[in-house]
Amino acid sequence: MSGMFHLSLGETELSSVVEVSGHRYTPEFLLPEIRRDELEAEQGWMAPDLYDPARDLLAMVRQTNVIRTRHHTILIDTCVGDCKPRNVASFNMLQTAWLENFRATGLRFEDVDLVMCTHLHVDHVGWNTRLLDGRWVPTFPNARYVFARGEYDHCAALHAAGGQSPDGPIFADSVLPAVEAGQAVIVDETEELAEGFLLEPTPGHSPGHVAIHLRNRDGHVLFSGDVMHHPVQVRLPHLNSRFCEDGPRARETRMRLLQAYADRDVILCPAHFERGTLGRLRSVSDGFRYDFLNGGAG
Ligand SMILES: [Zn+2]
Repeated sequence: MSGMFHLSLGETELSSVVEVSGHRYTPEFLLPEIRRDELEAEQGWMAPDLYDPARDLLAMVRQTNVIRTRHHTILIDTCVGDCKPRNVASFNMLQTAWLENFRATGLRFEDVDLVMCTHLHVDHVGWNTRLLDGRWVPTFPNARYVFARGEYDHCAALHAAGGQSPDGPIFADSVLPAVEAGQAVIVDETEELAEGFLLEPTPGHSPGHVAIHLRNRDGHVLFSGDVMHHPVQVRLPHLNSRFCEDGPRARETRMRLLQAYADRDVILCPAHFERGTLGRLRSVSDGFRYDFLNGGAG
């Protein structure tokens, strides 16, 4: 599978480049506070592609979102990347199908105009850079790399103090090379960006996490990053993932996002949802539901 979805919205084309997909995490690993009775109540609409009861595993995709407008090619979030030394075995020195899947889109590295990251965790910045003659260089030579100031400053301060992410030297090998090449643009969260892009602060999962709005005459898409990792969190929004850095804040942000965008003509594009990823939020009597664009409600 090269992409999780493809959608034409007027002159805007949305698609994805998959690094890995499938059933990977037990419910208690991904969502440590989940109760078995909660899971069982939601099992019906999730099985088997989002949750496989036989193996007791939740499915999650890692993908880069590709947006092609009339004038530009934009990538959002760049997975873990190849050949990167990481402290977690499942991220360490990977060789995945991402590159082959990227090429299958017909794009070349030179074609990318803009790279944006919802946050600077290990699985969102990897293909920002690639190894060339023993050095990490920006993968996309003509791209501007857009980083939100809050998240960037937090990681830069940690790096300046001699620290790094528990996952490895992510900032050093996947963010700094873009800065050193003069390709990074650090933007305030309120700044107007090109082509109808706008950032919305969604802190909690990481300190400066942002959701990215794309709003133009073709429609409104919200790239919500890791505000939710799995569609079950639409039904059970009190559940944080294991990877959320500030639990209470992540929960508050998730609730706010659900309330703000339910029943509106906004297509959601969360970073890790399987079943084609894209959908709309609906309010129902006992909370919220996720209607996947390609069918199947949750
Ligand atoms: Zn993630």
